Amino acid sequence: MRANLNQVLLANTQAAIGSFNVLDLDMAQAVANRADHLGLPAIIGIASRHFDVIKAPLLTPSLLAIIDAAEQPIALHLDHAGPDQLDMIRQALELGFTSIMIDGSQLPFAENIAITKQVVELAHSYGAGVEGELGAVAGEEGVADTGSESAEEIPYTQADEAKEFVSHTGIDALAIAVGTAHGIYTQSPHISFETIRDVKSVTDVPLVMHGATGVTDDDIRASVNSGIRKINFFSGLLQCAMDQVRGHNECDNNDYLAFKARQTVAWQDLIEEQMLLYKG
Ligand SMILES: [Zn+2]
Repeated sequence: MRANLNQVLLANTQAAIGSFNVLDLDMAQAVANRADHLGLPAIIGIASRHFDVIKAPLLTPSLLAIIDAAEQPIALHLDHAGPDQLDMIRQALELGFTSIMIDGSQLPFAENIAITKQVVELAHSYGAGVEGELGAVAGEEGVADTGSESAEEIPYTQADEAKEFVSHTGIDALAIAVGTAHGIYTQSPHISFETIRDVKSVTDVPLVMHGATGVTDDDIRASVNSGIRKINFFSGLLQCAMDQVRGHNECDNNDYLAFKARQTVAWQDLIEEQMLLYKG
């Protein structure tokens, strides 16, 4: 069932909703399949850096068909659109995306507010929801091997700034910096649950954690129990795919379809495991 960001987040306010970036229809189908299997809402995302590479405009009608065929509410999300990607945001909204992330976290505070507010006004006119970001998450979204030595150098999001940011922008969800990073961790991240609780105590919008791949199960549960309501998971899906490739370098009778079927099952298992974890 097609839903916007708010509808998905409101469909289960006690757990975090899994947001999985995809590169093709098989990955998207795996997300929708597990959402229905578990009876949980979900978000299918496309990272802005992949938008052109995977030919998102051609793919979107099929992604929406998968979403429409699902019983659970699912949003189609543009992940990490930057301040210089307003054209892509407009194109995504025209194509039918129901959720947009505007990442102005690299900008000075006032400029982040201004660009985010502009995107909120645009997206809301299409009925789509908007996620903003305050306090940069280290590493590059959609890059599998960024590493994350710098995760702890990024200052955690300040509660007073978060409150001001939310009230001035009208966003529907807020990504905060709590010690996680994009990509694969080279050392265990130190997550500030206090930051999550502090920000949650001053704002009503659902809080988002990026860079969940490699965070321990206990830390994910503690993050959800501290107030995280949307979790982005992507690098693990790539890792899973490459493990499959390396494990099957001699395909049975060159049966590529059999390989793809095994790949889909592996993605489904991983996505199910993550969705269950995000229940807290
Ligand atoms: Zn991210």
